[in-house]
Amino acid sequence: MVRADEGWEEFLRNGSGTPPTLALEVDPVRVLLVEDEVRLADNVRRGLAAEGFVVDVVHDGVEGLFRAQVDSYDVVVLDIMLPGLNGYEVCRRLRAAGVWSPVLMLTAKDGEYDQADALDLGADDYLTKPFSFLVLVAHLRALIRRGAPVRPTVLEAGDLTLDPASRTVCRSGVELTLTPREFGVLHFLMRHRGDGVSKADILESVWDPHYEGDENVVEVYVSYLRRKIDQPFGRCAIETVRGAGYRLAAGGG
Ligand code: CA
Repeated sequence: MVRADEGWEEFLRNGSGTPPTLALEVDPVRVLLVEDEVRLADNVRRGLAAEGFVVDVVHDGVEGLFRAQVDSYDVVVLDIMLPGLNGYEVCRRLRAAGVWSPVLMLTAKDGEYDQADALDLGADDYLTKPFSFLVLVAHLRALIRRGAPVRPTVLEAGDLTLDPASRTVCRSGVELTLTPREFGVLHFLMRHRGDGVSKADILESVWDPHYEGDENVVEVYVSYLRRKIDQPFGRCAIETVRGAGYRLAAGGG
């Protein structure tokens, strides 16, 4: 039996011949492809162009960030390991700049980050390399149908604010610098502000669901957070709930 995407795998591998036709009924859409593997990028571009997509290709993160900001793309396909600026940073900066084009991230199984990080940092979808061209097109179509993501609302607990869109945290109007993991823990606590949450809940939500590490890692991150959002301001937003976990004071401490 011949699988429908075998022609594509052949085409992507060899980079020669005419791309097979998928006969998709899609309106022309504008795609920005940020991929530093030149041959792969070129093959994907030709394949997508043959399907009626309008595709621009850039080969490094700095150029990708620039193009995604100045042009309006229906979707951005973003590799992670890129020269200049990695895909995670490109995605984070795009969201911080208020660019809401859907982002599909290309991840590698042996990467430093996992897919949960990709989604946490503002990507809308991901594909693991190597990917089938048919699957790429299906994901792109789904993202385009879904449209630009809705900008999430700013969370507030007193004078402590967290903006999931720009990934910024402020206390008394002062912007604080958090690592992605610290941000994830605080985001979880603020979504449940006023309620006690267990370390297991935090671990499951903020770390990979299959993470098998010790719950004490949550304590470590809570102590980091206290040093940033509470102690310099003489406040106590993150309360310890004996035998249970933590609670973020709804009033901000
Ligand atoms: Ca790469």
